[in-house]
Amino acid sequence: MKQVRLRFAPSPTGYLHIGGLRTALYNYLFAKHSGGKFILRIEDTDRSRYVEGAIEDLIESLNWAGIKYDEGVFIEDGKVVERGDYGPYIQSKRLDIYQKYVDLLIEQGDAYYCFCSKDRLDEVREEQKVKGLIPKYDGFCRSLSLDEARERISEGEEYVVRLKLPHNRDIKFHDVVRGDITINTEDIDDQVLLKSDGYPTYHMAVVIDDHLMGITHIVRGEEWLSSVPKHVYLYEVLGWDIPVFVHLPTVLNKDRKKLSKRHGDVAVEDFMSKGYLPEGLINYLALVGWSPENNQEIFSMEELIKAFSFERVAKTGGIFDINKLNWVNGHHIRNYDLDELTRLAIPYLKEAGYIDDRDIKEKYNWIKTMVETVREGISYISEITEKVDIFFNNKIEPEDENALSMLKGQQVPAILDAFKEELKEIEEVDEEFTKGIMKRIQRATGVKGKDLFMPTRVALTGNSHGPELTSIMYILGKQNILARIEYIEENFLKG
Ligand code: GLU
Repeated sequence: MKQVRLRFAPSPTGYLHIGGLRTALYNYLFAKHSGGKFILRIEDTDRSRYVEGAIEDLIESLNWAGIKYDEGVFIEDGKVVERGDYGPYIQSKRLDIYQKYVDLLIEQGDAYYCFCSKDRLDEVREEQKVKGLIPKYDGFCRSLSLDEARERISEGEEYVVRLKLPHNRDIKFHDVVRGDITINTEDIDDQVLLKSDGYPTYHMAVVIDDHLMGITHIVRGEEWLSSVPKHVYLYEVLGWDIPVFVHLPTVLNKDRKKLSKRHGDVAVEDFMSKGYLPEGLINYLALVGWSPENNQEIFSMEELIKAFSFERVAKTGGIFDINKLNWVNGHHIRNYDLDELTRLAIPYLKEAGYIDDRDIKEKYNWIKTMVETVREGISYISEITEKVDIFFNNKIEPEDENALSMLKGQQVPAILDAFKEELKEIEEVDEEFTKGIMKRIQRATGVKGKDLFMPTRVALTGNSHGPELTSIMYILGKQNILARIEYIEENFLKG
């Protein structure tokens, strides 16, 4: 059996779009599921849209997401390199290959030189619009003889090469998601294959590369579906086997509109910088447009590889719901290796000024406990800075009326007194202290249950809900607890 080979073929026009990451993911999952190979090819033939540094960014995003490919374009020591037996994998390095096939198509009579100026093409399009026709090339240069065309080229005239589609012929193909599709050539343009700058168009390059690179399954966004008939015709005249087509539904937002940069929800790098876990984003993205056979929602990459199939890709738009993503990511955060999570959280804590290099060196366990204590309540890591804020300001403000009223209970002064007495006995708060302290205050004051725990929590944090009291005490330490108690006494209990 032929080896399964899939490719992700982004154009380096900027950041990696969240929809692009999903396309890469489905390619990867299927390649791994089938024991096949996955290839990263860079499609940079549209020079006007090329963005410096975009290749590096794309690769960085894929690496971050844990999507590994076997061949193609990599970054090594900060440099773009290529690996694999089917290279080059960057289209701008394959111009001589495309030229060879353009010449062949011309020779066969399946393509022709076209000299029409932009002005003429604009005019034709205007006329067609006025007549209510779908704009397409009118075939003006189709009947030029090869000799005449070559003569004009030798005289230096600008030209493009177009595909010569037969008139009124049905082109049929099958898409795994959309089923059988038939389109008549009357509804398709004589596509430009080679541009006047000597670069092929996407349509030419994609067919040649997919064939020469042995691609068996083409998995990409549905915006390319309408181009498939042209590609199928090219495969046919070149005498090549047609690969399996899988066109994925567009990733939409909750209003069923395309994701837009304006809403800040499209660039993978934005999710990286907010501190989403690659595991969380990948898990959620897999479910945008695909569903497993059971109703499992939390997946590791390994589990996704096992469960994935194209048969369960939806026909219509996958909805990208940020709340659902947050739920999935929060789940991964709660189950993440704590040291790893701490490592990821440190830059955010440092950036926000809560910790410095010395803390990182000398108080690592303290930082780790802080991360452990608040991880329950965060959906992505940058949220940690809001959550740890309670540990850094000793001027406690009760969060609301309810919290304030808890401080006003008549038992509160005695509780805080007893707490201070206990603190006098120790050097620093440790596990033994945090474990026994509430019992000892209870014994000293006779107050227990909610009446004991709620005012203590409010006195230490200002909030009536939050992480474990024992962890809070450990993180605060003796001096901060004392300072907080005194501040509460001074500002809320006097008078
Ligand atoms: N270069 C195209 C893009 O950026 C790839 C389309 C395809 O996968 O054939 O979307």
